[in-house]
Amino acid sequence: MAKANRMEERGVEGPSAIGRALLAVSDQWTLLILQRAFLLRVRRFADWRDELGMSESVLANRLKEMVAGDLLKPAPYREEGRTRTEYLLTERAVELWPVLVEIWSWERRWVPRRHGLPELTHTGCGRRTDVELGCASCGRAGVTARDTETVRGAATFAQVTVPRLHRRTVRGEADPLSYLPETFEVLGDRWSTVILAAAFLGLRRFADFQAELGVAPSVLSNRLRRFTDLGVLEVEEPGARPRYRLTDKGLDFFGIFAFLVDWAQRWYTGPPDTDLRITHRACGLPFRPCLRCRSCGEAVSRTRVRFALPERDATA
Ligand SMILES: [Zn+2]
Ligand SMILES: [Zn+2]
Repeated sequence: MAKANRMEERGVEGPSAIGRALLAVSDQWTLLILQRAFLLRVRRFADWRDELGMSESVLANRLKEMVAGDLLKPAPYREEGRTRTEYLLTERAVELWPVLVEIWSWERRWVPRRHGLPELTHTGCGRRTDVELGCASCGRAGVTARDTETVRGAATFAQVTVPRLHRRTVRGEADPLSYLPETFEVLGDRWSTVILAAAFLGLRRFADFQAELGVAPSVLSNRLRRFTDLGVLEVEEPGARPRYRLTDKGLDFFGIFAFLVDWAQRWYTGPPDTDLRITHRACGLPFRPCLRCRSCGEAVSRTRVRFALPERDATA
């Protein structure tokens, strides 16, 4: 592993850290597999298959990729005299926990739903609560996208973003998207994530997205339409050269974006000077995202959050 990393570092081309991280996790099935592992402690092939209504071949393929990508580690266990394999979250995957908590919080704020979301309890204060974004560099809470500035190093957008071939999106009988449907639609295919990341980096015009990302016009207009339907982007200037901007709902996605960037920079290495840099204007320091409890104001750690799942509606 160390050797492979050194070889990657020598090349000037190649994806940045965030590009590598998005390659690893920006896929609906991968996110759902991780989410069920976190929320329901799913560890076994048959349980993911049944829980998500996935085909065995797609599931086997994703588990293999996630083991290769150091997100899951296989662990043998004995059952009925046979040796079987279960899959445990690696440290790298466990460190995604604030991304998933922030996703939960964003869905709670923005997505009207028929069925209840899981409830979060902060065991530090014992209350059912929500979280807010804070800056770990200076300790301030209530940080939003408008309080920060995001710049990229010398990286091209292609290095930041690196979309892969289109992959099958989630369609299942079992409604696997039931808990967090909109986020996984935004994050769950690489072009979508890439376009959103580019919007956070300041791209506005259709032609600029197209030129900088090298995305086919049909794919781009499809994703931009989807984002405007979801209320994440809005058309600021219609016409032959439309200009888009993030809505409040889109800007609020910043917390998820910031935690993904933070995770990417701790776990992946890209060529020199290809990092994204997010600065917290109030303190002038690199923005290091943290989660604070809205009830007691304490910084929330992974071991102090508990999710209680809603009762499942049998007719859902
Ligand atoms: Zn700060
Ligand atoms: Zn609390």
